[in-house]
Amino acid sequence: MRQQLERVRGTNDWPPLDARQLHDLVRALGDSFASYGYEHIEVPVLEHTDLFRLKSGEDILTKLYAFPYRGRDLCLRPELTASVGRYYVDHCQAAALPQRFAYAGPVFRYERPRQGRYRQFTQSGVELIGPEGPAADAELAALAWQSLARLGLDDHRLEIGHFGVMAALLRTLGLDDRARSFVIASMQDLRKAERGRAQVDARLDELFGAGAEDQPPDSADTTNTADDLLATLRRLVAGLDEQHARELILGLLQASHVSVGRTRSAADVADGLLRKLRWQDQAPGIRRALELAERLRSVRGSPPAAFDRIRHVLTDYRLDHAPLHRLEAVSTQLGAYGVPPAAVTVNLGLGRGLPYYTGLVFEIYADSLGPAQQLCGGGRYDGLLRLLGANADVPAAGFAFGVERVKLALDSHARPAGTPTTQVQVIPLGADDCAYAVTAAEQLRQAGLRVELELMGRGVKGTLRQAARRGIPFCSIVGPEERLGGTITIRNMAAHQEQRVALADAARYCQEDRVPAPADRQAGGVTATGAR
Ligand code: AMP
Repeated sequence: MRQQLERVRGTNDWPPLDARQLHDLVRALGDSFASYGYEHIEVPVLEHTDLFRLKSGEDILTKLYAFPYRGRDLCLRPELTASVGRYYVDHCQAAALPQRFAYAGPVFRYERPRQGRYRQFTQSGVELIGPEGPAADAELAALAWQSLARLGLDDHRLEIGHFGVMAALLRTLGLDDRARSFVIASMQDLRKAERGRAQVDARLDELFGAGAEDQPPDSADTTNTADDLLATLRRLVAGLDEQHARELILGLLQASHVSVGRTRSAADVADGLLRKLRWQDQAPGIRRALELAERLRSVRGSPPAAFDRIRHVLTDYRLDHAPLHRLEAVSTQLGAYGVPPAAVTVNLGLGRGLPYYTGLVFEIYADSLGPAQQLCGGGRYDGLLRLLGANADVPAAGFAFGVERVKLALDSHARPAGTPTTQVQVIPLGADDCAYAVTAAEQLRQAGLRVELELMGRGVKGTLRQAARRGIPFCSIVGPEERLGGTITIRNMAAHQEQRVALADAARYCQEDRVPAPADRQAGGVTATGAR
């Protein structure tokens, strides 16, 4: 029974101060976004599972809180980019570009929980739809970095890479579309120290069969007939274009009366075989590309020196330097936004796991939280909106903060965890004073103060003691004298001083945290009182 009442693993209860800090962070980040022209939109927490399947592939399903409901496959959103994309497709295709959207809200991912990694957390981010190129990319990365700087963080670093640049380099290494996607998707795993490369190699072996690509085409040392046949076929189609290679395989299948089963046609089988053969041809290039990605990762550092080191690596691989200019242009523009070069790490080997990125990718970390707790992730995904149903190719890019992690980073700076919610505690002395206490409290609230009325009948002494413990800066004591004189007595808790002021001046007194100026006194506002 007790078991059922527990909080769901990986979720959090946030007590008032933390909750308020999170709320303030969402608002402050939203204000930053708004200052760059990003307008807040709301999208549902509940979506069709297909939306995320379409965007992120089948792998995402293991992380989704997904369930069938009345004949529909629904899920709690694991992020908001796909929903904002759907929003654009549903409502905004006819509107002029660019469109700048901001969002914030809870997301849900079934991951192994640990410090800073939750199953429900808050994302706050933006999407920039329409523009492409370094100026748009730089706006996003700078906005993300500057939003944290505005919150007072001073140890955060922006790590930038570029899948478009990587793809261009891999193309010159001779990798086809599928092989390039494999390498770019594997770059995320390469980040995991020794384990990463082993995982990628295991996946390669799974795809090709261990060492298959290392065999010379005329190797006679095969014991397996299927491998033998494949090696022969590979030799036969080498150098042929797709159409001729396909015709050759189809002809061989038909001539040898090979049974292809009921579900697949001979043409399907020929296509499958050809894909497999071509894929195997790519294997040596893929291994070389993975090495290149690791080398590029190892020379990561701040601009401009990092770009020189990257150029050296490209020269070693006899690769053109030109694609790199796209990332250099972003890096230069970041300077114009006031992002210091020392706070930027260029890492062309930066992987982001998901396959849909096409250009700039970036992440932000705080030194105080370490590399395991990314504060922000983003990038460019020019094909996404079309994939989600847009009727034209529309460039898009964006980023998202994990708000709880931003809070952790600020907390670890030993910044005050946030001022207490209540600014003034109003204490009626007796039952007759309650109505006037309510009037006083309402007046203070209307002036923008957060005011709590004492309702426990605890008495002045007890309430003052508790207010001091809670860090409430002002207590206001309201008795017959105040009630009859239209005044209020305010105790400055830190200074241990009390002043009686006209009710009309009370809010200003608290807000300015000082005795009102002489002019106010002349108006009959202030009387010093002794402590009660
Ligand atoms: P992503 O959508 O994966 O790029 O994540 C964007 C940001 O959300 C990350 O940079 C993190 O700050 C945050 N984040 C991602 N996963 C989690 C999690 N499980 N718990 C808390 N924050 C997370």
